[in-house]
Amino acid sequence: MVPMAMAARDGDGWVDCPCGGKHWGKYGAAGLLLLRDQSVLLQHRAPWVHNGDTWGIPGGARDSHESFIEAAIREAHEEVGITADEIEILNESSESHGQWSYHTIIATALAPCEPIAANQESIEVRWIEIADVTTLTLHPAFGRNWEKLREIIQRLP
Ligand SMILES: [Zn+2]
Repeated sequence: MVPMAMAARDGDGWVDCPCGGKHWGKYGAAGLLLLRDQSVLLQHRAPWVHNGDTWGIPGGARDSHESFIEAAIREAHEEVGITADEIEILNESSESHGQWSYHTIIATALAPCEPIAANQESIEVRWIEIADVTTLTLHPAFGRNWEKLREIIQRLP
């Protein structure tokens, strides 16, 4: 088995999609939607990143050797400083465009889970009440999926 630190980061890159869009992640992408009580963890993206100055979930390109869950957890660790043992995965939702897909991993935060803005891609991270999410300027892809994700959250036990 290749140690994590040695594993190649080969997923970064754009994909020209049959839908007419360009998507990030040669092997697809994944994000982590983290829940705590009636709130979700959102990241205020820095102005200089793609679709900057919007709110979204931590995530990014999947590498070829990773599962979508592994990719979501790695990105969440890089961006908001949390680790796999601080969360419990509950569900998964995917948006598929044929060869490219985006997987949202839905998880609950286990105490003590204290996310921080861990790299320069975020201005801040904040727990946002589920009812208040749509009052923010959302990352376009997250905004498109939010209603579906909210319905999944509300059906969780
Ligand atoms: Zn597409």
